[in-house]
Amino acid sequence: MLTLSQSISFAKVVSIDVDELRVRTGPSTAHELIGHVNQGEQYTFLDETDEWVAIDYNGGTGWVSRDYVTITDDQTVTIPSNSDTTSDDTNNQNNISSTFDFKIPVDKLHLREAATTESEILSILTKGDSVVVLEQSNDWVKVNFQDTEGYIPSWILNEQIKINLNQTPLRNKVIVIDPGHGGYDVGAISVHNNYEKNFALNTAKHLQDQLELLGAKVHLTRSDDYYYALTPRAILANYHGADVFLSIHYNSEPQYPSANGINTYYRKSADLALAEFVHQGILETTKANDRGVLTGDYLVLRNSKRPSLLLELGFLSNESEEMLIQSPGYQDDISRGIIIGLENYFYN
Ligand SMILES: [Zn+2]
Repeated sequence: MLTLSQSISFAKVVSIDVDELRVRTGPSTAHELIGHVNQGEQYTFLDETDEWVAIDYNGGTGWVSRDYVTITDDQTVTIPSNSDTTSDDTNNQNNISSTFDFKIPVDKLHLREAATTESEILSILTKGDSVVVLEQSNDWVKVNFQDTEGYIPSWILNEQIKINLNQTPLRNKVIVIDPGHGGYDVGAISVHNNYEKNFALNTAKHLQDQLELLGAKVHLTRSDDYYYALTPRAILANYHGADVFLSIHYNSEPQYPSANGINTYYRKSADLALAEFVHQGILETTKANDRGVLTGDYLVLRNSKRPSLLLELGFLSNESEEMLIQSPGYQDDISRGIIIGLENYFYN
């Protein structure tokens, strides 16, 4: 269990003073218009000229006119009090506080109506069936299988967790997951008008659950829909001494609706091996189009002193890829792929 509530000071924040202020790719009106910002919004300061200010805009750099903003020194960012429970064996086996997915590891298992072998059999589960674990008492676990709630014996869960804990190098590894964007920074907008920030958070939470089952200690930079500047996200990774920091994003290229597939970005050459392992892991499970492992000078990577990657896990501007990304099965593939990659990285 970790309780963290502290303040970290940063150099500068840019507050917008007017509505519909134009954001451009560079410091002049000749540069391309990439969006608007509005009164009251705050952005991380990146750079400045006499007349223009660069802000962190959707994870990239955007320039706004200096006349319509206020630059404040010494922003105090409060890292939210974080009460997520990190797992040790005891927690995993006896005190499950949140729901997670579990794959049945035996050939045949009865799903029962009540927590007793006398009760009616609702369904017969077979190896590989995925159930959502809802709660665990002593000998029985309440699960949801294809919208039917019932009970399975708890030994099966414990057995699987033990196997996992003994086999995986992820045990006790500290993984900080950063769901990209959040709050008013919605990120990319999909074909069906869904926001990247929500897809990223969904993926991060699923990955967190799976990693915790394997004994990793996982922290999210945000666990809800709020905006959080990029610099403190990376600093959180440094603070926790993360073994790996993963920033989760989805891509968009509305001009090329057929664009699809997965990119993995790293910044420091020392992180290339990590990038290759994770990228290969994800491709293996998702069978997605390989857009390669690339270097990217992302701010969120720049401030992290820990091994760090930024993952672009598919295109929201591609209708069929968006449908895939929305499906729980594909999310499961993504998590499994990342885990395979991390395991290979830690083994090597
Ligand atoms: Zn993004």
